[in-house]
Amino acid sequence: MRAITVLSGGMGGAKFLQGVLHGIRHGLLPGVAEDAVVTVVANTADDLWAHGLKICPDLDTVMYTLGDGIDPGRGWGRRDETWSAKEELAAYGVEPTWFGLGDRDIATHLVRTQMLDAGYPLSAVTEALCRRWLVPVLGDAVRLLPMTDDRVETHVAIADPDSPSGRRVVHFQEYWVRLRAEVPAEALLFVGLDEATPGPGVIDAITDADLVVLPPSNPVVSIGTIVGVPRVREALRATRAPVVGLSPIVGGSHVRGMAEQLLTTIGVEVSAAAVGLHHGSRADDGILDGWLVDERDADQVERVRAGGLACAAVPLMMTDPGATAAMAAAAIRLVAT
Ligand code: GDP
Ligand code: CA
Repeated sequence: MRAITVLSGGMGGAKFLQGVLHGIRHGLLPGVAEDAVVTVVANTADDLWAHGLKICPDLDTVMYTLGDGIDPGRGWGRRDETWSAKEELAAYGVEPTWFGLGDRDIATHLVRTQMLDAGYPLSAVTEALCRRWLVPVLGDAVRLLPMTDDRVETHVAIADPDSPSGRRVVHFQEYWVRLRAEVPAEALLFVGLDEATPGPGVIDAITDADLVVLPPSNPVVSIGTIVGVPRVREALRATRAPVVGLSPIVGGSHVRGMAEQLLTTIGVEVSAAAVGLHHGSRADDGILDGWLVDERDADQVERVRAGGLACAAVPLMMTDPGATAAMAAAAIRLVAT
């Protein structure tokens, strides 16, 4: 196997990718060549405009993580970050004051916004940013592709007794960062998703892959949005490559993040099996051949198999790159045998 394509959100996807790269480097992935190329199709539905800047949280989390610029404690943003610009903006009372905008990080957003203003598509901008972060560390072993160059934004409807409709719609970032996902998400709106065009290389990355992996990313607002880009689902269903996913739900909980809240919003039970069955088997009209669940969810394996998926239970906690590489190896074994 030479061409591996991973559909990624931010932190979960980035951590998984670290494990995949560790596995390739140390020959831990069965059947995977040491010069394998990993193509990352990243979610861009979390993107926002703030203070005149285009911010792409998931692209940046993947880029900083693989380029060794991430703050490992937070899991997002830059290491050794300072917050002067954010404090100054807040002193002016300019919203959004809740968004974590670090000084170093702002440089990335400035470069991105300038290039977009000059007419470059997000994919070209991302490639330019990766020339700083990925190429020096990884050469051409990793390609980072936005799922689309078009503007797509996840918005969340929440209850608001002060509004005539009883509801208010906020950007996903406001729901997550300011509201901490602590109020019920009554509905999700994926603005622009139905009209989006897959980014350059996205469909080919799926069609020409030797293996496609859905890492333990958020099934609703990371994987769900990528698969919601027109033609991506069809490409996953048509590719000759096996398609395997790893559960982001372990023991009925999302480990970290807000998958539980959003699964509830879309009416999917918060369990490893239910998420796998929600993606579905390619033998029916789903997108997966196999689904890995955590060893704590071993009692759900039969239920997943009954849905037409290969399934196994292994440890799925991404505690370090070695443990994560073992998860990737188990995923490959599941669909390659
Ligand atoms: P985000 O964009 O930063 O929210 O990151 P992703 O969408 O890529 O992944 C977030 C999801 O990863 C969370 O909702 C969790 O369900 C999942 N997750 C985080 N850490 C782990 C882990 O160690 N193991 C597993 N199985 N899932 C994890
Ligand atoms: Ca995200």
